[in-house]
Amino acid sequence: MIRHMRKRKCKHCKTFFDPDPRNVGRQHYCAKPLCRQASKSGQSEALAAQPENQRLLLRLCPCGTGAAVAPPPSWVWATQGLSGL
Ligand SMILES: [Zn+2]
Repeated sequence: MIRHMRKRKCKHCKTFFDPDPRNVGRQHYCAKPLCRQASKSGQSEALAAQPENQRLLLRLCPCGTGAAVAPPPSWVWATQGLSGL
């Protein structure tokens, strides 16, 4: 008998992974360190949906000229969730 494959798509890196059978109902992230981090914060999607953060994701300069700037370092997302910007 072929069992149903319970692969899930990681909400962070969008790749498929095998969730822990004990955790299949609520595991939305794969085992990569960055994705575990995103899972813990649980805020990355909500944060990314905010207009101010969309600008940051698009790496646009706040001066409004559309100039590209460097993206925030990953530790900003992890430790501050961009809340201090
Ligand atoms: Zn992932």
